[in-house]
Amino acid sequence: MTDRVMKAPFMEEAVESCRYFWEAGWGENHAGNLSYLLSEDEVNTWLSQSNILNSIPIKFDTGGLSGKYFLVTRAGAFFRTIHKHPRKDLGIIRIDDGKLSVLWGFDEGRNRPTSEFPAHMLCHRARLQSDANNKLIMHCHPTHTIAMTFAHETEEQAFTKTMWSLNSECVLVFPEGLGMLPWMVCGEGEIGPATAKKMEQYRVVLWPYHGIFAAGKSFEDTIGLIETVEKNAQVYLLNGGKIQRGISEEQVRKLAEAFQLW
Ligand SMILES: [Zn+2]
Repeated sequence: MTDRVMKAPFMEEAVESCRYFWEAGWGENHAGNLSYLLSEDEVNTWLSQSNILNSIPIKFDTGGLSGKYFLVTRAGAFFRTIHKHPRKDLGIIRIDDGKLSVLWGFDEGRNRPTSEFPAHMLCHRARLQSDANNKLIMHCHPTHTIAMTFAHETEEQAFTKTMWSLNSECVLVFPEGLGMLPWMVCGEGEIGPATAKKMEQYRVVLWPYHGIFAAGKSFEDTIGLIETVEKNAQVYLLNGGKIQRGISEEQVRKLAEAFQLW
């Protein structure tokens, strides 16, 4: 059977992006996962089969997502090698009442989606309420961003202000600021709803000493967001975590006014 879906633009982008995340150092070992909202049109255009390969019960509230389709990375996938066997490491699923239905991939439905799946779905729901065009939720481990959560206080407003002071692009790229959780156990527990709550307001939520959750309209949009945070965290650390000069709050306000951000 030919696998038409491998030629779909969203699939090519997803596979390329996973490789890029590993090359950038954001997805060591099993780290990193993503979920990408697909339109019904995309599914009908690219998926030649419509049978359900597997059904997996869902324990969280999927209200608002029923009937929606997502491309998702599997639990335990290596970003480094997803491009070698995307049918094993990626899956296309549909959210049905109380379960997810695997329509493609995950090694013919034998694999499970990422353990952060509840966080992903709850974040999609939160972002879609703020922006109907949101498509992607991405979790990864950008090195300097993680390092900055050790070097800087982890209060989100203070963290955001420091980021904005580092480069004019910061307030342009994330005018709403950066969300930050306290350290929490990762996986399927409380961290999912907590991340989603922050995502009502922010497209980036930092998990201190761990990594980042980011949301966007496209791969380009989301990668650009993570790159901007990561680059400026690197600049901060290259300065030894000390800023003697930088863009002042008044100057940030001028930027926001000039670009009509607030
Ligand atoms: Zn992680």
